[in-house]
Order: sequence, then C-alpha cells, then structure tokens
Amino acid sequence: MNLHEFQAKHIFSQYGIPIPRGIVVRSAAEAKAAAEKLGGSVWVVKAQVHAGGRGKAGGVKIAKSVADVAAFTDELLGTRLVTHQTDEHGMPINSIMIEEGLDIAREIYLGALVDRASKRIVFMGSAAGGMDIEEVAATEPEKIITVRVNPVAGLQPYQCRQMGFALGLTPAQIKQLTVIMQGLYRCFEERDLGLVEINPLIVTGDDTLLALDAKINVDDNAIEVNRQAEIAEMRDPSQEDETEVAAAEHGLNYITLDGNIGCMVNGAGLAMATMDVIKLHGGEPANFLDVGGGTNKERVTEAFKIISSSPDVKGILVNIFGGIVRCDMIAEGVIAAVKEVGIKVPVVVRLEGTNVEQGKQLLEQSGLDIIPAENLTDGAKKVVGAVQRESA
Ligand code: ADP
Ligand code: MG
Repeated sequence: MNLHEFQAKHIFSQYGIPIPRGIVVRSAAEAKAAAEKLGGSVWVVKAQVHAGGRGKAGGVKIAKSVADVAAFTDELLGTRLVTHQTDEHGMPINSIMIEEGLDIAREIYLGALVDRASKRIVFMGSAAGGMDIEEVAATEPEKIITVRVNPVAGLQPYQCRQMGFALGLTPAQIKQLTVIMQGLYRCFEERDLGLVEINPLIVTGDDTLLALDAKINVDDNAIEVNRQAEIAEMRDPSQEDETEVAAAEHGLNYITLDGNIGCMVNGAGLAMATMDVIKLHGGEPANFLDVGGGTNKERVTEAFKIISSSPDVKGILVNIFGGIVRCDMIAEGVIAAVKEVGIKVPVVVRLEGTNVEQGKQLLEQSGLDIIPAENLTDGAKKVVGAVQRESA
C-alpha cells in the first residue's frame, strides 16, 4: 500500500525527520487560507497523487502570490495527473498540499528498501537527487551509494557518516543526515515499510537538510493483520486500480496486467502456470484472478464479472482444478455471471477434478456460447486462437 506525500511526511515528522511546513487543502478557498497561514512570499502547490514525476508533469507549481496559490489549486483539483509513472489515464487529484517555498542549494536522493538478496534493509543515496533513481541506476550505477544494515546491530552512526562523506556533505550536514537516516530506519522497522524514498532530500541555502518529497510503501501483509492501524486509515482507494479494489472487497486476489486474455484460476501456483502456458502459445494475460480454495458460487460470479469488466479483455480462460472447490459450483457461477452480464468475448473453460463431469454437463446444457477445453494446453491454444481471430 502506498501513501500520499502529505501522509508520508506526517509519518516522517513522528521520527524526527525535518519536513517543510505544509497544509493539505481540498478547495481554492482552503488553499488561499493555507498560504496566508504559512506566510512568506513563495509557495509550492503540490498535487497529491500516488505517483512520482509530478514536477515534470505540471503537478508541482511554484506560486509567487496568494492569488496564484488559489488559481493553481483550482486548476489542478478534480483533474487527473498523467506522469511517466502512471498509465495514460493518470491519477485523480483530490487533494493538494500547499507548502512553503524553500531555497534549494542541493538536491540529494535518499531511500531505503528491503534487499531480498542480502535479506537486509539497504539504504541508497545519490548526489544526483531530483532525478529518477532508476535512471541513475541504469546509466551511472557508480553514483549510487549503498549501505546494508545488520538487523541485529541496527544502523550504525559510522554507516551514516559513510553515506554523508560519499554524498559530499560537510560535517555539520552529516550530523543532520545521521538523524534523518536513523529516523528513517526506525520508521522502516516500526511501520513495516517495504520502501521509503526522499527525493529530493535538500540542503537549503542556510545549510539545513529537509525531506522535500516523501514516498512510503507499506507491506500489505502488515495492514492485513492489523499491525498498522494509523497507516491503514490512510488508504486512498481513489488512487488504486479500480478493479483490484472491487476484487479485494470480495476477498478475491486480482491483478491487472497488460495483455488481453482474462484468467480465472484457483490457486496462485495454477495462476502462474496458466499465464506461462498462455504466453507459450503466443498470448498475453490481461489479468489474473485467483478465486481461492474454499469459494462459493457468488464469489465465482463476482470474479467472472470483474474479469470481464475491462475493455482490454478480448477473451477469457477459466482454468480450475477442483480439489476442495467443486467443478459444478464453478460452472454454476460462470453460468450465472454470463447470464447476468452477457458474454461479449470468447470464453474457454477447462475444468478438472471434483465433480468435473457434472460441471461440464452444466456448461453444455446452459446453451451459452462457452468453448470447452480438454486440458490446460488445449485451453490456452483455444483462447489465444479465439482472441487472434477476433482481432484479425
Ligand atoms: P515529484 O518527485 O513528484 O516530481 P517533488 O516533491 O519531488 O515531486 O517536487 C518536484 C520538484 O519541485 C523538486 O525536485 C523541487 O525542485 C521542487 N519543489 C518541491 N517542493 C518544493 C518546496 N517546498 N520548495 C521549493 N521547491 C520545491
Ligand atoms: Mg520527488
């Protein structure tokens, strides 16, 4: 789960990480009041969306008057921001942060994540702040400084100094960096983060380090088991994939992908195998939905509706291995869903396992235009073939 910049900064402030003064607003009038309250002569109007690259996309604007603060807010609110990190539809702007405009002397990148290879929290720093770290990593990997934290010893002051020296900071700045890194580390552990990024971490004209931007990703498992009540409250479904949110409401595991074949499967392993076989036969999955082990007819119906709701889906493959789940119940769910929403694309169904004969019979007798498959390979070939014929 991702947080908005203003939420991440709020968390930062709990860990002694300095942030600019800022106020979140949801109207031009609130923006005007916020600018007046903050005072000063320069403000930054920042669209709050779950995506980076806002600056280049026009989502971060410098305002030199209170009137401009209100005007920029009005301009941005209610629109969608498309950045290089979003798809072509962008993300809805429902809130704006008005921030004091700061005098920036240097922009640095500082981030931390879980490195799966070393099984440790790793800090990454780069003097090339403000830029995408992915781009720096690709073109100038030597410019990224990494510090691995031993989980027993925790982050050591010498490691912060190492980072500071490598970033070319002065001793006074390194002291501030140490406080920030130690705050980030505590935050990372206590809040079950998967990723935290400050890009840019700035040095101001008067030598103060501040987190000018903030990105936090929290481990979904921590939310699920209620370890992070404050953060769970910060969820903003408007920033998440609509279909994934709908699926989660029904307890279904659904992932949107880039292709055009919808996959309804039971079990994550079978989902992976199904996608592999579809790709092997020249197709591309548009999504996969895992209906889970102990499901019921209603959930199968919901699942089918969710899969077929995307205009990108040009064909559907249902691949169910009935162990605990019965094939006849899956068939009933599919039939109910198709009757309810109609069938606009070819649907291939492969059933195997418990009550498979009853399931196949139900599909056959339904009179619906469902293409039966003998096995996974047959099913994949049939759905890929059908999609190719449709789009030919
Ligand atoms: P994004 O990473 O989404 O583009 P940032 O919050 O990093 O958004 O802002 C982009 C750029 O805008 C920063 O690199 C910085 O140069 C400038 N900026 C952002 N906030 C402020 C601020 N409070 N004062 C001055 N400049 C700012
Ligand atoms: Mg940024």
